[in-house]
Amino acid sequence: SRPLGVPAAGLVLLVGVSGSGKSTFAARHFTPTEVVSSDTCRALVADDAEDQSATPDAFDLLQHLVGIRLRRGLLTVVDATNVQPDARAQLVALARGHDLLVDAIVLKVPARVAVDRHRASGRTFGRTPVERIVERHDRDLRRSLRGLRREGFRRVHVLDGVEEVEAATVVRER
Ligand code: ATP
Ligand code: MG
Repeated sequence: SRPLGVPAAGLVLLVGVSGSGKSTFAARHFTPTEVVSSDTCRALVADDAEDQSATPDAFDLLQHLVGIRLRRGLLTVVDATNVQPDARAQLVALARGHDLLVDAIVLKVPARVAVDRHRASGRTFGRTPVERIVERHDRDLRRSLRGLRREGFRRVHVLDGVEEVEAATVVRER
């Protein structure tokens, strides 16, 4: 399959429901320091990557980290669901504020697959059932897909299904 071009000095948003494989994809295609993850930021501000009450603080930290990296001209990959328009808009604005390009890579994986993966891994989200979380993300993602190309991204790469996610390669464009 065709390699996904991303800006060598710019921002990449991974977009996908919880369990779609964003962190797995990030680890495979980018170096650990290029990836800024919402779960890591949550853990840093709450000592608990599952503590949902820490989400606003975690997002502040994520924005701050991304902003510093972009100011320094470093390729930065945001590993968060990015299924909500507000979250994307803030990150797109951050990149544009630094005159840098921003691309999106959408991991479009069926909700059922994501839920099954969560069950297999034993990961939990406090008391909220994993189906509820994934279904909410999936609804937000579906709503987002139509207008995504008009949100200021240079490119929106949509990987449609597990096979396309698996086959994807990434190339940094200078
Ligand atoms: P979250 O938003 O909750 O962080 P995520 O999108 O980062 O989720 P991952 O943690 O990468 O998702 O993957 C979820 C689970 O699915 C993990 O247990 C991972 O090992 C597994 N997984 C990821 N990609 C694949 C794949 N291609 N085939 C099978 N299992 C996979
Ligand atoms: Mg993850």
